[in-house]
Amino acid sequence: MLQNIRIVLVNTSHPGNIGGAARAMKNMGISKLVLVDPVEFPSGKAVARASGATDVLDAAQVVATLEEALVGCNLVFGTSARERRIPWPLLDPRESASKGLEELQQGGEIALVFGREYAGLTNEELQRCQYHVHIPSDPEFGSLNLAAAVQVLTYEMRMAYLAAQGQPTKMNKLETTAMLNAQPVTADELERFYGHLESTLVQIGFLDPLKPRHLMSRLRRLYGRAGISKLEMNILRGILTETEKVARGEPHKRRDD
Ligand code: SAH
Repeated sequence: MLQNIRIVLVNTSHPGNIGGAARAMKNMGISKLVLVDPVEFPSGKAVARASGATDVLDAAQVVATLEEALVGCNLVFGTSARERRIPWPLLDPRESASKGLEELQQGGEIALVFGREYAGLTNEELQRCQYHVHIPSDPEFGSLNLAAAVQVLTYEMRMAYLAAQGQPTKMNKLETTAMLNAQPVTADELERFYGHLESTLVQIGFLDPLKPRHLMSRLRRLYGRAGISKLEMNILRGILTETEKVARGEPHKRRDD
């Protein structure tokens, strides 16, 4: 499905940006690149910035006009860093990805069109697009690097695609478990731990209840700083339980048993 997305770069001045865009595309599993009247292409600078996505560059189609680039396309999205005078259906990248995906699911082809580094797309070019897409950047500094803008839109396309395929967006199961295990401990769990710690320290004779000398508040400060996870809390409680057993002279379980 991602093969039916074409990335169209109009009149790009810096070949480095073409390479950067190719890399951004390949990272997201998108490979069809169409260059409308590029200022300098092919170029070693493009190859350098593509860092391994040279297959995307090699297969890039170079055409003279936007019209040619859009032949066979069912739905066209034009990106713009600025507000335009002519009101047009405007989407954010996430919305454009969900609209684009609907079209792809019906077997259609879509294009994401990107403008010149210095001047963006002309009004005429923008009017060839059914939708305009604006990345909601800080209005004080709203214009992204061309390849960065390609990355944002292709990332959203990939996320929409993976969700539709029911494919995971997480690295793997193990990591998910690790993340769950990294859940922070709650205040009540921490309180129970301090109670357990105090009684254990009394049992082993480290803390004299008659002369506590701020020990517990110092330990609270220490453990409070550590940002303990649920998993780590289980370890600490396990250590205390085993320490109590030894203090009582009970047989205890060795960890490698
Ligand atoms: N000076 C130009 C900026 C162009 S930036 C202008 O004012 O239009 C080069 C291209 O990157 C843009 O044509 C567009 O395709 C993309 N781009 C940059 N910032 C963007 C943003 N905030 N939203 C959508 N596309 C953006």
